[in-house]
Amino acid sequence: MGFLADSLNRIQPSATLAVTSKALELKAQGRDIISLGAGEPDFDTPEHIKDAAIKAMREGKTKYTNVDGIPELKAAISAKFKRENGLDYKPSQISVGTGGKQVLFNALMATINPGDEVVIPTPCWVSYIDIVRLGDGKPVFAETRIEDGFKLTPAALDKAITPKTKWVLFNAPCNPTGAAYTRDELKALMDVLAKHKHVWLLTDDMYEHLIFDGLKFHTPVEVEPSLYERTLTLNGFSKAYCMTGWRLGYGAGPEMLIKAMSKLQSQSTSNPCSITQYAGVAALNGPQDFIPRHNKSFMERRDLVVSMLNQSTGIKCPKPQGAFYVYPSCEGLIGKTSAGGAKIVNDEAFVTALLEEEGVAVVQGAAFAMSPCFRISYATDTKSLEESCRRIQRFCGNMK
Ligand code: PMP
Ligand code: GLU
Repeated sequence: MGFLADSLNRIQPSATLAVTSKALELKAQGRDIISLGAGEPDFDTPEHIKDAAIKAMREGKTKYTNVDGIPELKAAISAKFKRENGLDYKPSQISVGTGGKQVLFNALMATINPGDEVVIPTPCWVSYIDIVRLGDGKPVFAETRIEDGFKLTPAALDKAITPKTKWVLFNAPCNPTGAAYTRDELKALMDVLAKHKHVWLLTDDMYEHLIFDGLKFHTPVEVEPSLYERTLTLNGFSKAYCMTGWRLGYGAGPEMLIKAMSKLQSQSTSNPCSITQYAGVAALNGPQDFIPRHNKSFMERRDLVVSMLNQSTGIKCPKPQGAFYVYPSCEGLIGKTSAGGAKIVNDEAFVTALLEEEGVAVVQGAAFAMSPCFRISYATDTKSLEESCRRIQRFCGNMK
């Protein structure tokens, strides 16, 4: 028996975080690198949120708090659900953690038994698969197609569900594809879940506010209220409030599940940072006017990137309506050789050669369970986006 836990052999380090570290490392060596790897907004945290944190620190709000969130924050979250989603959640139905990632982790660890199946529409965020595997669950993929703009169909969802299914993980707007759904499309998917009464839904609404072209966000329980008793609605502060480094996220659902998640958290990290929690109260209760301003920039950047990518030889890029990612296919380049002599056997070879030869960091589709594709996070300035797309065009155009 080795020293390290066997469970660690079932998972990989987070590929999105690994690409980001690699890009920083190359930059530190003096290389000219543009990083489109990290899924985080380039905008700074709004001032009123920072001020609330400074005030909390000055007032000595620097002690342990309730494990799963201070009452003020739970009240603000409860009001948010009512105001924005028309949903009623009491404070006892809300759990706050150190990032949405921890809330997701807690929910899965608190419920999965060996062999339980978790349906994950793909492509999906890297951590879904590995957290399920860490808990000894079995990820079951429900594939989407580029032709459908990577939107899940009711038939694909239905087909993935078996008597062993414990959870369906749903994420829209989606990381890594940006796919977002109309109310009717969402209702058709939720009709499938309404039918399978043994299945729980974990809806990851992290990109709720990042939705474009006038499309309106709806959360699953709002369109299919019968799912209320078996849904965990996950959300956080990282994306819309530009707070990735603060580490704050939350989930709302049945008390029985929330209690189990809190029990787990009490034996791991305890409460999320007290100062961050006060900043979270200001984020939810304060002005929201920066969100549409940011979205206007995101939409312009998306249009620029999609148009320039579709002008690259061998690349096909759908135009999504949410998040800040695009997920182009590089199928047209597989089997070719780059100007630097790299054989492009798969998307991993494509992203490695792109970083080596042109200094553009993106994430391989294999990490999100759909190849041959790659993910670009366009949450960066226009000049860097233009330059990186020019480099991608050159890289693809010079392939033999
Ligand atoms: N869900 C999705 C879909 C994400 O992309 C991320 C990563 N930012 C998270 C959850 C977790 O975010 P955080 O832990 O920063 O709240
Ligand atoms: N979720 C973001 C991303 O996909 C942040 C990194 C991570 O936690 O995976 O890039």
